[in-house]
Amino acid sequence: MKVIDISRTIQADMEMYPGDAGPQITKVSGLDEGDSYNTSRITLGTHTGTHVDPPLHLIRDRAGIDRLPMNTLVGNARVLDLSSINRPIEASDIGPLEAGEIILLKGGPNDSDGSGDSGDSGDFGDLGVSDGSADSGSSGDPGASCGAYLSAACARYLVDIGIRTIGTDAISIGALDEEYEVHHTLLDAGIVVIEGLEMPDVEAGDYFLVCLPLKIANGDGGPARAVLIKEKE
Ligand SMILES: [Zn+2]
Repeated sequence: MKVIDISRTIQADMEMYPGDAGPQITKVSGLDEGDSYNTSRITLGTHTGTHVDPPLHLIRDRAGIDRLPMNTLVGNARVLDLSSINRPIEASDIGPLEAGEIILLKGGPNDSDGSGDSGDSGDFGDLGVSDGSADSGSSGDPGASCGAYLSAACARYLVDIGIRTIGTDAISIGALDEEYEVHHTLLDAGIVVIEGLEMPDVEAGDYFLVCLPLKIANGDGGPARAVLIKEKE
């Protein structure tokens, strides 16, 4: 069984949605300071790095992050490689889908600094744990952002099909000029959105997804650790 980490690393200079403040990680006590333990305090936006958007992100009185059905975030998932497409994703790019699917879209590379830390498998017992991450975030420049993002028409197509969850390696699922409409269309239909995935070395295909956002009461979003599991490897 192979476990691939598809989460972004939370660090001070990571890519954020334009205008959002980045995380602050402050040492509270430290071994190097003579304390007997290391602890830190983190200040984090709810839409930092790899994160989940629940309906409450845009719509009053709808489910927050703590009330999402777990089967929207844990289950069989299909990765589609759309990295050759340099414009908003349209329905015709995606091909046939089935109701209830969890779909993860891989767009162009978001390793803007080219550091490419692919961190090959550590050996954790019989789990081959590898790191899908390329430590994207060293650029705070939103212009450097890429990844797969949808047109509003494509969002409506996903709603018509009735997929369960849509994930993307872009920091936002919507094309910039249709962003509100894309989000609203998906979230109003109860389709869960995962943004900021990190999948540069992940091949298209079938996997088992485990994506666990922090359980924040009435949270309008939640940073998450996400992994893909491939059974027969
Ligand atoms: Zn978000």
